Amino acid sequence: MKNDKPSIMRPVSLPSSASHPVVTPLSPSVVYASETPDMLDQQYDGDLHGYTYSREGHPNADVLAGRIDLMENAPCGGIVTSSGMAAVSAVLLGLTQAGDHVIGGNQLYGRSLRLMSDDLPRLGIATSMVDPGDVEAVRAALRPETKIILVEVVSNPTLRVADITGLAALARETGVLLVLDNTFTTPRAFKAFDAGADIVIHSITKLLAGHSDVMLGYVAAKDQDIADRMRAFVVTTGMTPSPFDCWLAERGLLSFELRFDRAQSTAARLSDHLAGLKGVHRVIYPSREDHPDQARAAALLNGQFCNMVSFEINGGRTAANAFTRAAQGLNFAPTLGDVGTTISHPASSSHRALSAQKRAELGMSEGFFRISVGLEDPDVLCAVFSDAVAASQG
Ligand SMILES: *Cc1c(COP(=O)(O)O)cnc(C)c1O
Repeated sequence: MKNDKPSIMRPVSLPSSASHPVVTPLSPSVVYASETPDMLDQQYDGDLHGYTYSREGHPNADVLAGRIDLMENAPCGGIVTSSGMAAVSAVLLGLTQAGDHVIGGNQLYGRSLRLMSDDLPRLGIATSMVDPGDVEAVRAALRPETKIILVEVVSNPTLRVADITGLAALARETGVLLVLDNTFTTPRAFKAFDAGADIVIHSITKLLAGHSDVMLGYVAAKDQDIADRMRAFVVTTGMTPSPFDCWLAERGLLSFELRFDRAQSTAARLSDHLAGLKGVHRVIYPSREDHPDQARAAALLNGQFCNMVSFEINGGRTAANAFTRAAQGLNFAPTLGDVGTTISHPASSSHRALSAQKRAELGMSEGFFRISVGLEDPDVLCAVFSDAVAASQG
């Protein structure tokens, strides 16, 4: 291509093509050039849409957010953040001030709990952790200065189901914002805004992106003013995602529903398989008759019981070590939602900070495992678990 301008000049556009690409183009540009100061004025005044600086927003984040907005029936455009925890922080730090009070579920994701127990109090924001399955306990924790109730629909790792209907009614009655972290349940199983959420959070890192190769979050609000406040906080504190991560997540999202359905049907089957194995004394899966919240799960989740299964083997830590060693081809890794099945052991990871006594109260012994079921052949997966459980029992 002939170019008689000095080589330092940057090209201003891609070569033109009458046909268009079928894949969203990746736009890594940090800055966007406007034509004139007048044009820039119009952009900043909101009269003309145009990107300026990628911390403020970029096309790949907007395309990804738009896809998740559709899945969640989000009334205002959602915000993609650099991690799920950035999304949690955008809510808890971006919408509160000293003197406020926040209520959180007592089995939230570990770092969300940490934000509640350490960081908010340091900034003068009081917190209470309450069982989200017990609306009366949440009501009792309310104070005149309570601004937010943050819960997950299905708790980690004991898979208890929150009383979302009761909490939504309580939030409406009192004007407190109900924030639902929909990471485990996903919009496939649970439409959080339709169920009464004021704000919805995702760790895109998990099931939505689904391949353990990208870390991102999402947050959307029902109210435009609240969405604007969170967006300003995200931009100011630099929680904006990278274009390439958004591009990868969009690619993952395209197969999300297929992956979810497959993982979920395997999870249901694996839970029944595990319950029949010698050495397994408890299996937790929300569609099972012996699950304490089975009726609530059936009503809330519309027959979608997700891809997470927890179970407990006899024999304590010795058996637990033998189990993970024998679980051929399965990653013992503290994440969820990957295409491959992963196993986590709360006593040595997510819940290691708790005393053995406290873990026992929550129902997590040394033999307790949480499985994030992936896309393997279900027959093969069941056989791997049979062998590993047998090996663990010596
Ligand atoms: C993983 C997770 C988060 C945090 O997301 P990151 O992307 O890891 O920062 C928040 N909530 C839930 C329920 C999670 O599983």
